[in-house]
Amino acid sequence: MIVSKFGRYTIIHEETFEEVGLSSNVYILKSNNGYIVFDTSGHKELLKFLINLGIEKDKIIGAFLTHGHFDHSNGAISLIRNNIKCYMSYEDLYLINFNPVFDIEDGKRILEEVGLEIIKTPGHTPGSVCFYSESEALLISGDTVFSDGCFGRTDLPGGSNTALKNSLRLLSSLNIKVLFPGHGDYIIENASKIISYALSNAEYMLSNY
Ligand SMILES: [Zn+2]
Repeated sequence: MIVSKFGRYTIIHEETFEEVGLSSNVYILKSNNGYIVFDTSGHKELLKFLINLGIEKDKIIGAFLTHGHFDHSNGAISLIRNNIKCYMSYEDLYLINFNPVFDIEDGKRILEEVGLEIIKTPGHTPGSVCFYSESEALLISGDTVFSDGCFGRTDLPGGSNTALKNSLRLLSSLNIKVLFPGHGDYIIENASKIISYALSNAEYMLSNY
């Protein structure tokens, strides 16, 4: 298992799950009340990995998905089976085939208690969201933007160039130092610069639509 720590977060890197093919990073926030999981990898048995990290399943408050693609959402299956609530934008329901999933808005209070807010960032999928902590200047970005200045692909069903550019514009107005993307490495400094760079890339490369 490839794991690292930053502040109150534990990161399970995507390579951990390579036996199932494409998978996302998993971010786990530890709060006084328990653990919150952001993205669940493509591994249907994610819970086993969490338990191996010493996380008791009864201490997991819930899991939040940045979007519905299988490489981020399949791990939710093992959590739901163990009565852990999973939250995702209902606009991405068409991408998953398991139940029950709760609408992201219903999880808002859980996030507020740990200082995070939901930022709607459609484009990669219609229901893509990011999670933002103003006090930590930290963004969990899913597949909307990555640490190398690349942005999420828009050519899959439900993708939109215009929506993605608007979402990047919105993100570039925030103060972000730490970027926790869905794939690849995370960065802990100057993430706003990377996001502005991603926006100018997107404006150039997605200029036809
Ligand atoms: Zn995706």
